[in-house]
Amino acid sequence: MEGMSPSLARASLLGLALGDAFGSQFFVPANRPHLSARTLPPAPWQWTDDTEMACSVHDVLTRRGAVDQDDLAHAFATRHDFDRGYGPATNRLLRLVREGGDWRELATGLFDGNGSWGNGAAMRVAPLGAWFAGDPARAAAEAASSAEVTHAHPEAVAGAVAVAVAAALDPSLPAGRFLDRIMEHVPPGLVRTGIAEARGLLTIADPLLAARMLGNGRRVTAHDTVPFTLWVAARERRDFAKAMWTTASAGGDVDTTCAIVGGVIAAAPDVALPAEWTARCEPLPDWAGVVR
Ligand SMILES: [Mg+2]
Repeated sequence: MEGMSPSLARASLLGLALGDAFGSQFFVPANRPHLSARTLPPAPWQWTDDTEMACSVHDVLTRRGAVDQDDLAHAFATRHDFDRGYGPATNRLLRLVREGGDWRELATGLFDGNGSWGNGAAMRVAPLGAWFAGDPARAAAEAASSAEVTHAHPEAVAGAVAVAVAAALDPSLPAGRFLDRIMEHVPPGLVRTGIAEARGLLTIADPLLAARMLGNGRRVTAHDTVPFTLWVAARERRDFAKAMWTTASAGGDVDTTCAIVGGVIAAAPDVALPAEWTARCEPLPDWAGVVR
């Protein structure tokens, strides 16, 4: 397992799940006042599809040390719980894979043969980046492989690459260098253009303004989601709680934006998850192979 960091991957997965569970609380209308007051919503916080899929990524890495696409497709399909908030295209794809369908045909056939450019490949990939901490090129290659199983569109793949590289990079990099290093691995396109725009917005502090320029996941595309999450991660690399409040305050696809940011931030060895938060979060499933 040389060059691999199972402990960082586990920490990232716990951060991702906590972000997902925290963010999803704000879809409950009664919890909205907690967002403006920055008080924690009442327990229990349930995680969603972001975490369920990330657990499968983590499970495959733990068993194989690398992404095996057939194994990953099988894991996604067999662990698929319809009630965890998957999008309609993914619900259908995973059901068909479970019934014996070929994930390659199904994933490339989505959306008139364009493949999905949703944020679903990015939302689950931070622990993979952490697994390959210090080797961003390897993280990028494995992330692309993990994305293709469900999200064949180049923007969805680019979004997954960007998030994995973010989680694999040295956490002590200054914000601007951090985004520059990520862009070195992301192919040209909307996601990369968005990250370049995020780089230019590092001097502003208002997340609502940043999200207005970069997107907040409301359109659930990779390019409407990933640039803003990396803007937050670049600015708040050291403070999990602050990063979560900043991310959630921008609205949009909040479980997914918080899952991405949480997974990237928690991949840094010196960042601890706040105990008061983790106590409210639903535990990971046993099959994820993570002991609290
Ligand atoms: Mg979700």
